[in-house]
Amino acid sequence: MYYGWIHGYYARESANRAGASALDAKDAARRAENAMVRLEDAIDRQALIIRTLLSICEQKGVFNEAEFKQLMNDVDLSDGRLDGKFKPQATPRACPSCGKTNGKRAVTCMYCGVPLEDREVL
Ligand SMILES: [Zn+2]
Repeated sequence: MYYGWIHGYYARESANRAGASALDAKDAARRAENAMVRLEDAIDRQALIIRTLLSICEQKGVFNEAEFKQLMNDVDLSDGRLDGKFKPQATPRACPSCGKTNGKRAVTCMYCGVPLEDREVL
Protein backbone atom coordinates (compact mmCIF):
# COMPACT_ATOMS: atom_id res chain seq x y z
CA MET A 1 0.00 0.00 0.00
CA TYR A 2 1.22 3.48 -0.83
CA TYR A 3 1.66 5.78 2.15
CA GLY A 4 3.49 8.58 0.40
CA TRP A 5 0.43 10.81 0.83
CA ILE A 6 1.06 10.77 4.60
CA HIS A 7 4.48 12.26 4.07
CA GLY A 8 2.98 14.90 1.76
CA TYR A 9 0.22 15.64 4.25
CA TYR A 10 2.63 16.13 7.14
CA ALA A 11 5.00 18.17 4.97
CA ARG A 12 2.12 20.52 4.05
CA GLU A 13 0.92 20.66 7.65
CA SER A 14 4.44 21.49 8.83
CA ALA A 15 4.80 24.21 6.18
CA ASN A 16 1.38 25.63 7.14
CA ARG A 17 2.35 25.70 10.81
CA ALA A 18 5.69 27.36 10.00
CA GLY A 19 3.86 29.93 7.88
CA ALA A 20 1.35 30.54 10.65
CA SER A 21 4.17 30.89 13.19
CA ALA A 22 5.91 33.41 10.97
CA LEU A 23 2.67 35.39 10.64
CA ASP A 24 2.12 35.20 14.41
CA ALA A 25 5.66 36.45 15.02
CA LYS A 26 5.20 39.26 12.48
CA ASP A 27 1.90 40.24 14.11
CA ALA A 28 3.47 40.19 17.59
CA ALA A 29 6.35 42.35 16.34
CA ARG A 30 3.90 44.84 14.81
CA ARG A 31 1.89 45.01 18.05
CA ALA A 32 5.07 45.52 20.08
CA GLU A 33 6.19 48.30 17.76
CA ASN A 34 2.78 50.00 18.04
CA ALA A 35 2.92 49.70 21.82
CA MET A 36 6.37 51.25 21.84
CA VAL A 37 5.19 54.19 19.72
CA ARG A 38 2.25 54.73 22.10
CA LEU A 39 4.61 54.55 25.08
CA GLU A 40 6.98 57.08 23.53
CA ASP A 41 4.03 59.39 22.85
CA ALA A 42 2.89 59.03 26.46
CA ILE A 43 6.41 59.78 27.76
CA ASP A 44 6.67 62.84 25.51
CA ARG A 45 3.29 64.02 26.80
CA GLN A 46 4.40 63.49 30.42
CA ALA A 47 7.61 65.44 29.73
CA LEU A 48 5.54 68.30 28.33
CA ILE A 49 3.28 68.34 31.40
CA ILE A 50 6.22 68.24 33.82
CA ARG A 51 8.11 70.95 31.92
CA THR A 52 4.98 73.13 31.97
CA LEU A 53 4.51 72.61 35.73
CA LEU A 54 8.17 73.41 36.42
CA SER A 55 7.98 76.54 34.28
CA ILE A 56 4.90 77.89 36.02
CA CYS A 57 6.33 77.10 39.46
CA GLU A 58 9.50 78.97 38.55
CA GLN A 59 7.54 81.89 37.08
CA LYS A 60 5.38 82.12 40.23
CA GLY A 61 8.46 82.04 42.46
CA VAL A 62 7.59 78.73 44.09
CA PHE A 63 11.19 77.57 43.51
CA ASN A 64 14.06 78.06 41.15
CA GLU A 65 15.80 75.42 39.08
CA ALA A 66 18.69 74.91 41.56
CA GLU A 67 16.24 74.32 44.43
CA PHE A 68 14.26 71.93 42.26
CA LYS A 69 17.38 69.96 41.31
CA GLN A 70 18.38 69.67 44.97
CA LEU A 71 14.92 68.40 45.92
CA MET A 72 14.95 66.02 42.96
CA ASN A 73 18.25 64.57 44.19
CA ASP A 74 16.80 64.18 47.69
CA VAL A 75 13.78 62.32 46.31
CA ASP A 76 16.04 60.22 44.08
CA LEU A 77 18.11 59.22 47.10
CA SER A 78 15.03 58.39 49.18
CA ASP A 79 14.73 55.01 47.42
CA GLY A 80 18.29 54.19 48.43
CA ARG A 81 20.03 54.88 45.12
CA LEU A 82 21.09 58.08 43.38
CA ASP A 83 20.43 56.84 39.87
CA GLY A 84 18.15 59.40 38.27
CA LYS A 85 15.09 57.28 39.04
CA PHE A 86 12.56 56.87 41.82
CA LYS A 87 11.72 53.23 42.37
CA PRO A 88 10.52 52.65 45.92
CA GLN A 89 10.89 49.06 47.00
CA ALA A 90 7.44 47.84 47.89
CA THR A 91 7.30 45.03 50.40
CA PRO A 92 4.92 42.08 50.40
CA ARG A 93 1.82 42.84 52.45
CA ALA A 94 0.14 40.73 55.08
CA CYS A 95 -3.64 40.47 54.87
CA PRO A 96 -5.34 42.06 57.93
CA SER A 97 -7.99 39.30 57.84
CA CYS A 98 -6.26 35.98 57.06
CA GLY A 99 -2.66 37.04 57.66
CA LYS A 100 -1.36 35.54 54.43
CA THR A 101 1.26 37.41 52.47
CA ASN A 102 0.21 39.12 49.25
CA GLY A 103 2.27 40.55 46.41
CA LYS A 104 3.71 44.04 46.50
CA ARG A 105 1.09 45.45 44.16
CA ALA A 106 -1.94 43.60 45.51
CA VAL A 107 -4.98 45.74 46.20
CA THR A 108 -7.10 42.94 47.63
CA CYS A 109 -6.01 39.75 49.35
CA MET A 110 -5.55 37.03 46.75
CA TYR A 111 -6.57 34.39 49.33
CA CYS A 112 -9.70 35.82 50.94
CA GLY A 113 -10.53 38.90 48.86
CA VAL A 114 -10.40 41.41 51.73
CA PRO A 115 -9.24 44.86 50.59
CA LEU A 116 -5.69 45.53 51.74
CA GLU A 117 -5.02 48.77 53.55
CA ASP A 118 -4.20 51.76 51.42
CA ARG A 119 -0.59 52.59 51.03
CA GLU A 120 0.69 55.94 52.16
CA VAL A 121 0.43 58.55 49.43
CA LEU A 122 3.93 59.91 50.00
ZN1 LIG B 1 -6.66 37.50 53.29
